[in-house]
Amino acid sequence: IHPPVSVIGLGMMGSALAQTFLKEGHQTTVWNRTAGKADALRKQGAKVASTVNEAIAASPMVAICVLDYGTVHEILEESGEILAGRAIVNLTNGTPAQARRTAAWVAGRGAEYLDGGIMAVPQMIGTTGALVLYSGSEKVFQTCQPTLKGLGTANFLGEDPGLAPLYDLALLSAMYGMFGGFFHATAMIRSEQIKAGAFTELAVPWLQTMAASLPRMAQAVDVGDHRTNVSSLSINQTGFVHFIEACRELGISAELMTPIQELISRGVAEGYGTDGLSRLVELIRNPASV
Ligand code: NDP
Repeated sequence: IHPPVSVIGLGMMGSALAQTFLKEGHQTTVWNRTAGKADALRKQGAKVASTVNEAIAASPMVAICVLDYGTVHEILEESGEILAGRAIVNLTNGTPAQARRTAAWVAGRGAEYLDGGIMAVPQMIGTTGALVLYSGSEKVFQTCQPTLKGLGTANFLGEDPGLAPLYDLALLSAMYGMFGGFFHATAMIRSEQIKAGAFTELAVPWLQTMAASLPRMAQAVDVGDHRTNVSSLSINQTGFVHFIEACRELGISAELMTPIQELISRGVAEGYGTDGLSRLVELIRNPASV
Protein backbone atom coordinates (compact mmCIF):
# COMPACT_ATOMS: atom_id res chain seq x y z
CA ILE A 1 0.00 0.00 0.00
CA HIS A 2 2.91 2.33 0.76
CA PRO A 3 5.59 1.71 -1.88
CA PRO A 4 9.09 2.97 -1.19
CA VAL A 5 9.95 6.40 -2.57
CA SER A 6 13.19 8.31 -3.06
CA VAL A 7 13.61 12.06 -2.85
CA ILE A 8 16.54 13.83 -4.48
CA GLY A 9 17.08 17.40 -3.30
CA LEU A 10 16.45 18.41 0.29
CA GLY A 11 16.05 22.15 0.06
CA MET A 12 13.02 23.74 1.67
CA MET A 13 10.61 22.02 -0.72
CA GLY A 14 12.38 18.67 -1.10
CA SER A 15 12.60 18.32 2.70
CA ALA A 16 8.86 18.99 3.01
CA LEU A 17 8.15 16.35 0.35
CA ALA A 18 10.36 13.75 2.06
CA GLN A 19 8.88 14.53 5.48
CA THR A 20 5.36 14.07 4.12
CA PHE A 21 6.21 10.74 2.47
CA LEU A 22 7.65 9.56 5.79
CA LYS A 23 4.55 10.67 7.70
CA GLU A 24 2.37 8.83 5.18
CA GLY A 25 4.27 5.65 5.98
CA HIS A 26 6.51 5.28 2.91
CA GLN A 27 10.01 3.93 3.25
CA THR A 28 11.78 7.10 2.12
CA THR A 29 15.33 7.27 0.84
CA VAL A 30 16.86 10.72 0.44
CA TRP A 31 19.90 12.30 -1.14
CA ASN A 32 21.13 15.88 -1.14
CA ARG A 33 24.37 17.48 -2.38
CA THR A 34 24.95 19.00 1.05
CA ALA A 35 24.65 15.86 3.16
CA GLY A 36 23.95 17.70 6.45
CA LYS A 37 20.46 18.65 5.25
CA ALA A 38 19.43 15.00 5.59
CA ASP A 39 20.12 14.86 9.35
CA ALA A 40 16.64 15.91 10.51
CA LEU A 41 15.01 13.45 8.09
CA ARG A 42 17.28 10.61 9.25
CA LYS A 43 15.98 11.20 12.78
CA GLN A 44 12.44 10.94 11.41
CA GLY A 45 13.21 7.55 9.86
CA ALA A 46 14.51 8.35 6.37
CA LYS A 47 17.23 6.22 4.82
CA VAL A 48 20.05 8.54 3.76
CA ALA A 49 21.76 7.48 0.53
CA SER A 50 25.41 8.36 0.18
CA THR A 51 25.20 8.55 -3.63
CA VAL A 52 22.54 9.56 -6.15
CA ASN A 53 22.60 6.05 -7.60
CA GLU A 54 21.94 4.53 -4.20
CA ALA A 55 18.89 6.80 -3.83
CA ILE A 56 17.58 5.95 -7.30
CA ALA A 57 18.12 2.22 -6.82
CA ALA A 58 16.08 2.25 -3.58
CA SER A 59 12.64 2.96 -5.11
CA PRO A 60 10.53 2.54 -8.24
CA MET A 61 9.45 6.20 -7.90
CA VAL A 62 12.09 8.89 -7.63
CA ALA A 63 10.97 12.45 -6.88
CA ILE A 64 13.46 15.19 -7.66
CA CYS A 65 13.12 18.78 -6.48
CA VAL A 66 16.18 20.96 -6.90
CA LEU A 67 17.06 24.49 -7.95
CA ASP A 68 16.40 24.20 -11.71
CA TYR A 69 16.36 21.80 -14.69
CA GLY A 70 20.07 22.31 -15.33
CA THR A 71 20.69 20.89 -11.85
CA VAL A 72 18.26 17.99 -12.51
CA HIS A 73 20.38 17.03 -15.54
CA GLU A 74 23.67 17.48 -13.68
CA ILE A 75 22.44 15.09 -11.00
CA LEU A 76 20.75 12.47 -13.22
CA GLU A 77 23.44 12.41 -15.89
CA GLU A 78 25.75 10.60 -13.47
CA SER A 79 23.18 7.88 -12.87
CA GLY A 80 23.86 5.67 -15.92
CA GLU A 81 21.78 2.51 -16.37
CA ILE A 82 20.14 2.67 -12.98
CA LEU A 83 17.34 4.97 -14.20
CA ALA A 84 15.86 2.36 -16.54
CA GLY A 85 12.38 1.14 -15.61
CA ARG A 86 11.82 3.77 -12.91
CA ALA A 87 9.33 6.59 -12.65
CA ILE A 88 11.01 9.99 -12.41
CA VAL A 89 8.72 12.63 -10.91
CA ASN A 90 10.35 16.00 -11.43
CA LEU A 91 8.90 18.65 -9.11
CA THR A 92 11.50 21.28 -9.99
CA ASN A 93 10.23 24.60 -11.34
CA GLY A 94 11.00 25.33 -15.00
CA THR A 95 9.59 26.09 -18.45
CA PRO A 96 7.41 23.92 -20.76
CA ALA A 97 10.32 23.43 -23.22
CA GLN A 98 12.66 22.39 -20.40
CA ALA A 99 10.11 19.82 -19.22
CA ARG A 100 9.69 18.41 -22.76
CA ARG A 101 13.46 18.14 -23.22
CA THR A 102 13.89 16.46 -19.83
CA ALA A 103 11.05 14.02 -20.58
CA ALA A 104 12.74 13.03 -23.86
CA TRP A 105 16.10 12.66 -22.12
CA VAL A 106 14.62 10.49 -19.36
CA ALA A 107 12.80 8.35 -21.96
CA GLY A 108 16.15 7.88 -23.70
CA ARG A 109 17.41 6.33 -20.46
CA GLY A 110 14.53 3.85 -20.44
CA ALA A 111 12.66 5.55 -17.60
CA GLU A 112 9.20 7.13 -17.45
CA TYR A 113 8.66 10.80 -16.73
CA LEU A 114 6.06 12.81 -14.89
CA ASP A 115 6.50 16.54 -14.49
CA GLY A 116 5.00 18.33 -11.50
CA GLY A 117 4.31 21.95 -10.66
CA ILE A 118 3.86 22.64 -6.97
CA MET A 119 1.37 25.43 -6.32
CA ALA A 120 2.14 25.72 -2.62
CA VAL A 121 4.79 26.71 -0.12
CA PRO A 122 6.61 23.92 1.77
CA GLN A 123 4.49 24.39 4.92
CA MET A 124 1.35 23.48 2.92
CA ILE A 125 2.71 20.16 1.61
CA GLY A 126 0.68 17.25 2.97
CA THR A 127 -2.56 19.25 3.10
CA THR A 128 -5.36 19.30 0.51
CA GLY A 129 -4.68 23.04 0.15
CA ALA A 130 -1.44 22.20 -1.67
CA LEU A 131 -2.26 21.86 -5.36
CA VAL A 132 0.24 19.90 -7.42
CA LEU A 133 -0.17 19.93 -11.22
CA TYR A 134 1.14 16.94 -13.15
CA SER A 135 1.74 16.18 -16.82
CA GLY A 136 3.61 13.53 -18.78
CA SER A 137 3.19 9.80 -18.38
CA GLU A 138 -0.41 9.05 -17.42
CA LYS A 139 0.66 5.53 -16.51
CA VAL A 140 3.09 6.92 -13.93
CA PHE A 141 0.44 9.30 -12.63
CA GLN A 142 -2.10 6.48 -12.21
CA THR A 143 0.43 4.14 -10.61
CA CYS A 144 1.89 6.77 -8.29
CA GLN A 145 -1.36 8.60 -7.52
CA PRO A 146 -1.86 6.95 -4.11
CA THR A 147 1.63 8.16 -3.15
CA LEU A 148 1.35 11.59 -4.80
CA LYS A 149 -2.05 12.22 -3.19
CA GLY A 150 -0.24 12.42 0.14
CA LEU A 151 1.51 15.62 -0.98
CA GLY A 152 -1.72 17.50 -1.70
CA THR A 153 -4.44 17.75 -4.31
CA ALA A 154 -3.10 16.05 -7.45
CA ASN A 155 -4.32 17.34 -10.82
CA PHE A 156 -3.24 15.53 -14.02
CA LEU A 157 -3.32 17.87 -17.04
CA GLY A 158 -2.34 15.57 -19.90
CA GLU A 159 0.42 13.55 -21.57
CA ASP A 160 2.36 16.58 -22.84
CA PRO A 161 5.02 17.02 -20.12
CA GLY A 162 5.10 20.78 -20.82
CA LEU A 163 1.56 21.31 -19.53
CA ALA A 164 2.34 21.30 -15.80
CA PRO A 165 5.01 24.04 -16.05
CA LEU A 166 2.80 25.98 -18.50
CA TYR A 167 -0.15 26.06 -16.08
CA ASP A 168 2.20 26.57 -13.13
CA LEU A 169 3.82 29.66 -14.64
CA ALA A 170 0.48 30.97 -15.96
CA LEU A 171 -1.11 30.72 -12.51
CA LEU A 172 1.93 32.37 -10.93
CA SER A 173 1.74 35.15 -13.56
CA ALA A 174 -1.86 35.80 -12.51
CA MET A 175 -0.77 35.79 -8.88
CA TYR A 176 2.09 38.23 -9.44
CA GLY A 177 -0.26 40.51 -11.40
CA MET A 178 -2.66 40.58 -8.46
CA PHE A 179 0.13 41.08 -5.90
CA GLY A 180 1.69 43.78 -8.09
CA GLY A 181 -1.62 45.64 -8.29
CA PHE A 182 -2.10 45.31 -4.55
CA PHE A 183 1.45 46.53 -3.81
CA HIS A 184 0.98 49.57 -6.01
CA ALA A 185 -2.43 50.35 -4.49
CA THR A 186 -1.03 49.96 -0.98
CA ALA A 187 1.90 52.29 -1.77
CA MET A 188 -0.66 54.89 -2.88
CA ILE A 189 -2.63 54.51 0.35
CA ARG A 190 0.47 54.52 2.59
CA SER A 191 1.79 57.69 0.93
CA GLU A 192 -1.20 59.40 2.62
CA GLN A 193 -0.40 57.68 5.97
CA ILE A 194 -3.48 55.43 5.79
CA LYS A 195 -3.02 51.97 7.32
CA ALA A 196 -2.60 49.16 4.77
CA GLY A 197 -4.68 46.83 6.96
CA ALA A 198 -7.68 49.14 6.82
CA PHE A 199 -7.33 49.37 3.03
CA THR A 200 -7.54 45.59 2.62
CA GLU A 201 -11.12 45.74 3.98
CA LEU A 202 -12.02 47.42 0.70
CA ALA A 203 -9.39 45.83 -1.54
CA VAL A 204 -10.21 42.17 -0.85
CA PRO A 205 -13.94 42.29 -1.73
CA TRP A 206 -13.08 44.54 -4.71
CA LEU A 207 -10.62 42.01 -6.09
CA GLN A 208 -13.11 39.20 -5.48
CA THR A 209 -15.74 41.10 -7.50
CA MET A 210 -13.22 41.74 -10.29
CA ALA A 211 -12.14 38.06 -10.28
CA ALA A 212 -15.77 37.14 -10.94
CA SER A 213 -15.51 38.93 -14.32
CA LEU A 214 -12.64 36.67 -15.53
CA PRO A 215 -14.85 33.95 -17.08
CA ARG A 216 -16.65 36.63 -19.16
CA MET A 217 -13.27 37.95 -20.39
CA ALA A 218 -12.08 34.39 -21.07
CA GLN A 219 -15.20 33.83 -23.17
CA ALA A 220 -14.35 36.93 -25.25
CA VAL A 221 -10.81 35.59 -25.76
CA ASP A 222 -12.04 32.11 -26.74
CA VAL A 223 -14.51 33.40 -29.36
CA GLY A 224 -12.17 36.21 -30.48
CA ASP A 225 -14.81 38.88 -30.02
CA HIS A 226 -13.54 41.73 -27.83
CA ARG A 227 -16.34 44.21 -28.47
CA THR A 228 -17.62 45.69 -25.23
CA ASN A 229 -20.43 47.59 -23.66
CA VAL A 230 -18.56 47.66 -20.36
CA SER A 231 -15.30 49.60 -20.71
CA SER A 232 -13.35 50.33 -23.90
CA LEU A 233 -9.57 50.55 -24.37
CA SER A 234 -10.01 54.26 -25.27
CA ILE A 235 -11.72 55.10 -21.99
CA ASN A 236 -9.08 53.11 -20.08
CA GLN A 237 -6.36 55.03 -21.94
CA THR A 238 -7.87 58.30 -20.70
CA GLY A 239 -8.17 56.95 -17.16
CA PHE A 240 -4.56 55.78 -17.11
CA VAL A 241 -3.32 59.36 -17.47
CA HIS A 242 -4.81 59.94 -14.01
CA PHE A 243 -2.99 56.93 -12.52
CA ILE A 244 0.35 58.25 -13.72
CA GLU A 245 -0.41 61.82 -12.69
CA ALA A 246 -1.46 60.61 -9.22
CA CYS A 247 1.86 58.75 -8.87
CA ARG A 248 3.69 62.04 -9.48
CA GLU A 249 1.42 63.88 -7.01
CA LEU A 250 1.93 61.23 -4.33
CA GLY A 251 5.67 60.96 -4.98
CA ILE A 252 5.53 57.21 -5.71
CA SER A 253 6.85 55.05 -8.54
CA ALA A 254 4.68 54.32 -11.57
CA GLU A 255 6.90 51.35 -12.63
CA LEU A 256 4.12 48.78 -12.20
CA MET A 257 1.51 50.87 -13.98
CA THR A 258 3.34 52.12 -17.08
CA PRO A 259 3.59 48.67 -18.79
CA ILE A 260 -0.21 48.33 -18.66
CA GLN A 261 -0.63 51.89 -19.90
CA GLU A 262 1.73 51.15 -22.82
CA LEU A 263 -0.22 48.03 -23.77
CA ILE A 264 -3.55 49.87 -23.72
CA SER A 265 -2.08 52.72 -25.80
CA ARG A 266 -0.69 50.23 -28.34
CA GLY A 267 -4.16 48.68 -28.61
CA VAL A 268 -5.72 52.07 -29.34
CA ALA A 269 -2.92 52.91 -31.82
CA GLU A 270 -3.50 49.59 -33.63
CA GLY A 271 -7.18 50.48 -34.05
CA TYR A 272 -8.77 48.55 -31.17
CA GLY A 273 -9.97 51.58 -29.15
CA THR A 274 -13.57 50.37 -29.03
CA ASP A 275 -12.61 46.87 -27.84
CA GLY A 276 -12.68 45.86 -24.19
CA LEU A 277 -9.70 45.03 -21.98
CA SER A 278 -9.73 41.36 -23.07
CA ARG A 279 -8.09 42.60 -26.33
CA LEU A 280 -4.86 42.93 -24.30
CA VAL A 281 -4.49 39.14 -24.43
CA GLU A 282 -4.09 39.34 -28.22
CA LEU A 283 -1.64 42.25 -27.92
CA ILE A 284 0.49 40.28 -25.47
CA ARG A 285 0.41 37.30 -27.87
CA ASN A 286 1.59 39.56 -30.70
CA PRO A 287 4.49 41.58 -29.30
CA ALA A 288 5.15 44.98 -30.81
CA SER A 289 7.97 44.83 -33.35
CA VAL A 290 10.93 46.61 -31.76
P1 NDP B 1 16.22 25.59 -1.95
O1 NDP B 1 17.10 26.71 -2.35
O2 NDP B 1 15.78 25.48 -0.53
O3 NDP B 1 16.90 24.20 -2.36
C1 NDP B 1 17.58 24.05 -3.58
C2 NDP B 1 17.97 22.60 -3.73
O4 NDP B 1 18.70 22.45 -4.96
C3 NDP B 1 18.90 22.09 -2.63
O5 NDP B 1 18.63 20.74 -2.37
C4 NDP B 1 20.27 22.26 -3.26
O6 NDP B 1 21.28 21.45 -2.72
C5 NDP B 1 19.95 21.83 -4.68
N1 NDP B 1 20.98 22.28 -5.62
C6 NDP B 1 21.19 23.52 -6.08
N2 NDP B 1 22.24 23.54 -6.93
C7 NDP B 1 22.70 22.26 -7.02
C8 NDP B 1 23.74 21.60 -7.73
N3 NDP B 1 24.52 22.28 -8.58
N4 NDP B 1 23.89 20.28 -7.57
C9 NDP B 1 23.10 19.56 -6.72
N5 NDP B 1 22.09 20.12 -6.01
C10 NDP B 1 21.89 21.45 -6.16
O7 NDP B 1 14.95 25.67 -2.91
P2 NDP B 1 13.48 25.06 -2.72
O8 NDP B 1 13.55 23.72 -2.07
O9 NDP B 1 12.61 26.11 -2.13
O10 NDP B 1 13.03 24.90 -4.23
C11 NDP B 1 13.32 23.74 -5.00
C12 NDP B 1 12.42 23.74 -6.22
O11 NDP B 1 11.05 23.77 -5.80
C13 NDP B 1 12.63 24.99 -7.12
O12 NDP B 1 12.54 24.62 -8.46
C14 NDP B 1 11.46 25.88 -6.72
O13 NDP B 1 11.10 26.76 -7.74
C15 NDP B 1 10.38 24.84 -6.45
N6 NDP B 1 9.30 25.36 -5.61
C16 NDP B 1 9.59 25.93 -4.40
C17 NDP B 1 8.58 26.50 -3.64
C18 NDP B 1 8.86 27.13 -2.32
O14 NDP B 1 7.96 27.80 -1.80
N7 NDP B 1 10.02 26.94 -1.71
C19 NDP B 1 7.19 26.55 -4.15
C20 NDP B 1 6.99 25.86 -5.40
C21 NDP B 1 8.02 25.32 -6.11
P3 NDP B 1 22.21 22.00 -1.52
O15 NDP B 1 21.39 21.80 -0.27
O16 NDP B 1 23.40 21.13 -1.59
O17 NDP B 1 22.49 23.46 -1.81
